[in-house]
Amino acid sequence: VIILGIETSCDETSAAVLANGTDLKSHIISSQIGTHQKYGGVVPEIASREHCLHISQVVAEALGQAGMGFKDLSAVAVTYGPGLVGSLLVGVSAAKAMAYAADIPLIGVNHLEGHVYANFLEHPDLRFPLLALLASGGHTNLIIFRGHLDYEVIGRTRDDAAGEAFDKVARALGFGYPGGPNIQKAAFEGNAAAFDFPRAMLETGSFDFSFSGLKSSVLNTLNSARMKGEVLNTADLAASFQAAVVEVLVQKTLRALEKYPVKTLALAGGVAANSNLRQALQQELDHRGISFVYPSPIYCTDNGAMIALAGYYRFMNDDYASWKLNAVPGLNL
Ligand code: ATP
Ligand code: MG
Ligand code: FE
Repeated sequence: VIILGIETSCDETSAAVLANGTDLKSHIISSQIGTHQKYGGVVPEIASREHCLHISQVVAEALGQAGMGFKDLSAVAVTYGPGLVGSLLVGVSAAKAMAYAADIPLIGVNHLEGHVYANFLEHPDLRFPLLALLASGGHTNLIIFRGHLDYEVIGRTRDDAAGEAFDKVARALGFGYPGGPNIQKAAFEGNAAAFDFPRAMLETGSFDFSFSGLKSSVLNTLNSARMKGEVLNTADLAASFQAAVVEVLVQKTLRALEKYPVKTLALAGGVAANSNLRQALQQELDHRGISFVYPSPIYCTDNGAMIALAGYYRFMNDDYASWKLNAVPGLNL
């Protein structure tokens, strides 16, 4: 079974060819970061136009590297949501055209399922049930997976996502987009105990998250210092903010593992690339004898390989999309 996976939900144009759900034959990611950096974030209209310019080339390169043509494919899997509508439409339209022309099935993939499935790329032996912590640019979820594509969301963010908080705080600190990697880098030189930022744990028993209070607290600290003419240590701010996000993510996850005693935690989404988060989770899970997996950084952020893999499992269930498949910007888990 050969799946071509296509991802265009935000600002990465990506395509991958995956054989039998395990063997990644090729993977191309064309990032628009350089284009959006000067605006401090992703500009949707520009993102959509950039996808149009690059999609054909990215797919051609993925097929070329795999040494394959459309005739070798079993199906085309594409992200149809959530994401930016103009960006999603480029991938969905391209995938439809290719699948129709090659007379093979079209498969619609939920981008968030894709993020979790990124774990199976490097850990094909991963077993259910497992708890997934998805922390990305737009989402923060705790999800119990009982089997392939059989899951229940037990926690979600009530306001800002973890990655969104990283990006907004980074912008306030004068770092470029995307914020996560820059905060991590700055935090390395800082004192995480310098500022006591709030840890919003919400009411006990809930696995929901809230990061907007933390974000506001960092912004208020910056603003009041500015009004007094004080200059705060940016590295200390970054380290203290990061420590607050990590502590909330870790504590909520541990609490969920008490209620749902599974043996494995899988981390996913762009924030999963954060080394402090990985280290903190590793330490706590080692104590508890729970195995811990996370994708390599390249598979944490948006990529076509994870879409091909999630698409593979839909394909195996004969779960095909119709030619009417449309972009669903607000698609949820
Ligand atoms: P979603 O997947 O929810 O639709 P998205 O696709 O924009 O949103 P991802 O690509 O999964 O999000 O992840 C991007 C996010 O990950 C950004 O918010 C970025 O700041 C964050 N991020 C990336 N690397 C790191 C890091 N090392 N530490 C913290 N955050 C990071
Ligand atoms: Mg991106
Ligand atoms: Fe994403």
